[in-house]
Amino acid sequence: MINYHDILQARENIANFMNETPVLHSSKLSEICGNEMYFKAEHLQKTGSFKIRGAANKVKKTVRDGVTFVTAASSGNHGQAVAYIANQLGIQATIVIPVDANESKKNAIKSYRGNIEKCGTTSAERLPKARELAIEHNGTFIPPYDDPFIMAGQGTIGLEILEQLEDVDIIVVPIGGGGLISGILTAIKQTKPKVKIIGVEPATANDTFLSLKNKKITAIRATTTIADGLRTSQPGDMTFPIVQKYLDDLVLVSDEEIKVAQSFVLERMKQLIEPSSAVTVAAAMNGKLGIKDKKVVCVLSGGNVDIRNLGSTTIQRV
Ligand SMILES: *Cc1c(COP(=O)(O)O)cnc(C)c1O
Repeated sequence: MINYHDILQARENIANFMNETPVLHSSKLSEICGNEMYFKAEHLQKTGSFKIRGAANKVKKTVRDGVTFVTAASSGNHGQAVAYIANQLGIQATIVIPVDANESKKNAIKSYRGNIEKCGTTSAERLPKARELAIEHNGTFIPPYDDPFIMAGQGTIGLEILEQLEDVDIIVVPIGGGGLISGILTAIKQTKPKVKIIGVEPATANDTFLSLKNKKITAIRATTTIADGLRTSQPGDMTFPIVQKYLDDLVLVSDEEIKVAQSFVLERMKQLIEPSSAVTVAAAMNGKLGIKDKKVVCVLSGGNVDIRNLGSTTIQRV
């Protein structure tokens, strides 16, 4: 398990490669939710998501170990983050993406000078390919969440929130594979355990919810939620024990609720966030946090959306 010191160390390691993102406030959402609502703006992070934090910590460690080639299996934010940081550190990265990945994602990876390798349509095909390429070229495979350096990097968000909003009561965090929330849980619970942490999953990608209920890692079948960053089939071997130890509550939101929240944030707060981020706002807007008159920080984990799809994902009105 990682600890608080791993996160302090990560913060030092990655400081030069990322932004300390602002905490935003919304009066309108505070009124709707019955709590003081704040937002940790990782959609304004370099590469458009928090994934750069873990990727920078891990790839830096890899370079310290003398490795000059990394791979990742991702069509999304993790792939972009690994390509970006490898380029910054002057090493090569190959990102294995699905054959049907959209142009905007491919272009983002290319713009960070990452090599693209196409393979299959599922992560079950991409992951072995990325591992194989790493071995073939004496490189290192960079996992998306189940790794101590990745988890510690994501945890730096927790340190920033404690400094930016000292009297925070509750932090709301999206859950995919659990790298983000396990890092934040470690940062917060080992320093200010009274701060509550609530996780959010899409109702159709409820693998962590089921795993907590069954008290063991439980896999679900492939899912189609609009929150594409949260479509993992099971929590990680390293992330799950931390979630199990520290998490205060986990709530589920529907795709409809996610769309409404995403449109609300765009129209009223003028912030463009992706559906995987909007789950935290959806939980708050629909009274799922079960709290009143508290200071709440929703983590807005990323803002990478293909604007050509925006019309269809944000047709909902509040
Ligand atoms: C990856 C990702 C998540 C989920 O993070 P995990 O560490 O897999 O739990 C949430 N939101 C966005 C935007 C992401 O890219």
